[in-house]
Amino acid sequence: MTNTLTNENSQLRNQLKLLLEQAHRNQQIMQRYQEFDLKFIGSNTFQELIDSVFDTLTEASELDVVTLSLIDPDAEIRRILTDLRIDISDYPNLIFVEQNVDEITHPARKPSIGPYSTMLHRRLFPDTVLKPSSVAVLPLIRRNMLIGWLSLGSLDPTRFTANMASDFLQHRASIVAICVENVINNERLQHIGLTDPLTGVNNRRYVERRLLEEVGRTQRHGYSLSSLYIDLDFFKKVNDNYGHQGGDEVLREVAARIKAELRLSDALGRFGGEEFVVLLIDAPLDAAVAVAERIRASICNTPITLTSGENLRATVSIGVSNLKAIGRKEEIAAAAQHFLAKADQALYLAKQGGRNKVVSAE
Ligand code: GH3
Ligand code: MG
Ligand code: MG
Repeated sequence: MTNTLTNENSQLRNQLKLLLEQAHRNQQIMQRYQEFDLKFIGSNTFQELIDSVFDTLTEASELDVVTLSLIDPDAEIRRILTDLRIDISDYPNLIFVEQNVDEITHPARKPSIGPYSTMLHRRLFPDTVLKPSSVAVLPLIRRNMLIGWLSLGSLDPTRFTANMASDFLQHRASIVAICVENVINNERLQHIGLTDPLTGVNNRRYVERRLLEEVGRTQRHGYSLSSLYIDLDFFKKVNDNYGHQGGDEVLREVAARIKAELRLSDALGRFGGEEFVVLLIDAPLDAAVAVAERIRASICNTPITLTSGENLRATVSIGVSNLKAIGRKEEIAAAAQHFLAKADQALYLAKQGGRNKVVSAE
C-alpha cells in the first residue's frame, strides 16, 4: 500500500516537473517572440525591417529560411526602393510578386502549413534560397487586402505539420503585415518629399542632401566627383510659342533624356525652373565632360514631339566642374558649395559662348 502511494507520488512529481519544464520553455519562447516583436515594431526604414525579418526572426525562431513576398503589380515599391538607393538584389529572400497571385498558394488568404510542395511554394522559395522540407506560409493582410506572404521554412519535416495550431503564427504575421505597411508608407513619404512632381526626377532638396554625402565620401575615400549644371536655352521662348503646358512637356522629355545618359549611382535633380544638376559619382573631369557632351547631343539631335503633335528642337548649355579629394580639415559644406558654384560659372560661360555648349570649369 505504502509502496503504491510512493510510486504514485513519484510519478506525479515527475509529471509536475515535466509540466514546469514545458511551461518554462514556453515562457522563454514567448519572451523571445516578444523581443522580436519589439524589434520589429521599432523598425523605421525598409532596411531595418528587412534585417529584422531575415536575421532576427530566422535566429529567434530557429528557422532555416525565411522569405518575404510583397505584391507589387506596378513595381511601385521597387521603384521607391531603387530611388532611395536600396539595392533589392542584395536581398534574395525578398520577393516581389507581379501577377497570378492566385497561383502562388491555395488558398492565398489562409496560412498554409505542412510539407514543402514545389507546385504550391516554388515562387515563395525561389532557387536563390534554401529549399525547406516543411513550411508555414502566412498571408499578410492589411485592411482586408492581401499585401504579401511571410514564408517560414525548416529543413526538419516535422517542424511544420498540417495539424499544427496556426493562430500563434498568424499573430506573428499580423505584426509583420502592420510593420511592412508602415515602413513602406514611411519610405513613400520620404520619396515624395525628395521628388520633383513635374518630371519625376529628384528635387533640389535631394540633390543638396546627396551632395553633402558625396563630398564627405570623397573626403574619406579620395575619389573624384563631378557635377553638371544644365540649363535649357531660350526656354522663355518655348513657353511663349507652345504655352506653359508645352514647356512642361519639354522639361519632362529633357529630364528623361538626361537620365538615360547616366548611371544608376549618379544623382539627377531638377534644381529650379529649367535647370538640372547632375552629380557624377567617381567620375574624373574628362569623363564628366564626355557625359555632358552626350546629354547635349541627345537633346539637340532629336526633336521633341509634343502631345499637340508639334515638333520642336530644344538645346541645353552645360557647365562641368570637378571636385578632387578634399583635405581632412576642409569644411564639407563650403567645399560642396564651391564645387557647384564652379559648374554654375562654367554654365554662364557656355551661355555667353553662344549656348548649346559644354564648358568645363578647369
Ligand atoms: P537662357 O538661354 O539664357 O537660359 O534663356 P531662358 O529663356 O531659358 O532663361 P530664363 O532663366 O530667363 O527663363 C527661364 C524660363 O523658364 C522662365 C520661366 O517662365 C520658365 N519656367 C520656369 N519653371 C517652369 C516650369 O515649371 N514650367 C514651364 N513651362 N516653364 C517654366
Ligand atoms: Mg535658368
Ligand atoms: Mg534657360
